[in-house]
Amino acid sequence: MSALILKGKNNDWEMICGLEIHCQIISKSKIYSPSSTAYGSDVNENVSFIDVAMPGMLPSLNKECVRQALKTGIALNAKVNKYSAFARKNYFYADLPQGYQITQDKFPIIGEGVVKIELENGETKEIGIERLHIEQDTAKSIHDISPTKTFIDFNRAGVGLMELVTKPDFRSPEEVGAFLRKLRSIVRYLGTCDGNMDEGSMRCDASVSIRPVGEKEFRPRAEIKNVNSVKFACQAVEYEANRQLEIYESGGSMEQESRQFDPVSGETKFMRKKEYAHEYRYFPEPDLLPLVLTDEFIAEIKADMVELPDEKKERFVKELGLTPYDAKVICENKETAEFFEKAAKGHDAKKVANWLMGDFFAMLNEKKLTLEQSPISAENLGELVELVTSNVINGKTAKDVFEIMAETGENPSKIVEEKGLKQVTDTGAIEKIIDEIIASNPDNVASYKAGKTNLMGWFVGQVMKASHGKANPTLVNQILVQRLD
Ligand code: MN
Repeated sequence: MSALILKGKNNDWEMICGLEIHCQIISKSKIYSPSSTAYGSDVNENVSFIDVAMPGMLPSLNKECVRQALKTGIALNAKVNKYSAFARKNYFYADLPQGYQITQDKFPIIGEGVVKIELENGETKEIGIERLHIEQDTAKSIHDISPTKTFIDFNRAGVGLMELVTKPDFRSPEEVGAFLRKLRSIVRYLGTCDGNMDEGSMRCDASVSIRPVGEKEFRPRAEIKNVNSVKFACQAVEYEANRQLEIYESGGSMEQESRQFDPVSGETKFMRKKEYAHEYRYFPEPDLLPLVLTDEFIAEIKADMVELPDEKKERFVKELGLTPYDAKVICENKETAEFFEKAAKGHDAKKVANWLMGDFFAMLNEKKLTLEQSPISAENLGELVELVTSNVINGKTAKDVFEIMAETGENPSKIVEEKGLKQVTDTGAIEKIIDEIIASNPDNVASYKAGKTNLMGWFVGQVMKASHGKANPTLVNQILVQRLD
């Protein structure tokens, strides 16, 4: 069990958490207007009359946003609703010129689903998906240009969002983190959202409550708004659960409320009393027809699905012989998985995985490089592994060659050729070196024969040194054993 159990004076408490996650949809234009969604444009450059709600403007639905939401829903093993409809969610705010958000209420495009997460202890857990609906993003308020004014950038107004709502299935911060990483990995594989939480393209609200273990009903929850990293989400829910424990333990009670996480203090802070759905006066959006999907359209999207992280992971374990752990680490990131596949092609996949997760990642880390910036190409990494498996070089030389590759980006075979690093597999040559070492170290030979067998390592070291690291270690061991025993 990975549940977070809080110790009260008289009983244990458990944490209950559900998530609402807004994912910005990757599409060329906005969800109800033809304006561009290009990131990094000049302020208020990508704005149409529709986005700023000029009188008489009518929204029209972007088919690409629908396609992206469907892909995501299918990947979440969720029900695709062939009939969905749009609604107005009314509230007044400067970043929402319409005075309402066009969203989906009673009829979301995606219904219930399930996502499997993996936990540290090797267990898996299923997290229920309540729904996923599509809606428009608001504009962005900018508070730090003037001390007295707020500026508004409408570039974001009307960008498509998928809002994913989970069931209250989380029982620990670890599960929250595992789910967010899983979701991010899925949308990145799909190319439906870039998943960058720090840039706000994936934003998480976490609802947290606690209850005595064994109690059935849910208690009032606090909703922590807009957490912008996986780490902060985990910290925020843990802090909040403990805060509520203190309230109950000191005889207090909870009311439903919205809170904000402060990453500096690590605390959640009161924002406002929670607003309830009826306060938004939802009603059907009169400017957009209900969305009715044909079987052909759904089938076309299903046929076009990419291999998802779980499927890839399974294939790497079954077909390439990776351990589940290695496969999980490699498949979490789509680019890493693709790099690995390219490197492993035609070579010993398990060895390639070891190099990738060991020396290769360490090298990128040390040089502070991303995978795309790696001086070592996937093909060259695969070739290096091949040189070892086919006994052209030994493991120690491979490390040296790897160092040179990391500096120069050169091809490993070329490095081995130019520097004369091929290992000595000529038995005669190795025997000659061994005989010399045995002859000039009679004391150690005597000690070895008298039972100090751990001297074997010393002999191997001497032979390797004399061969400038190029002797085949397996042969060295074999011949030494023959000679000494
Ligand atoms: Mn929303």
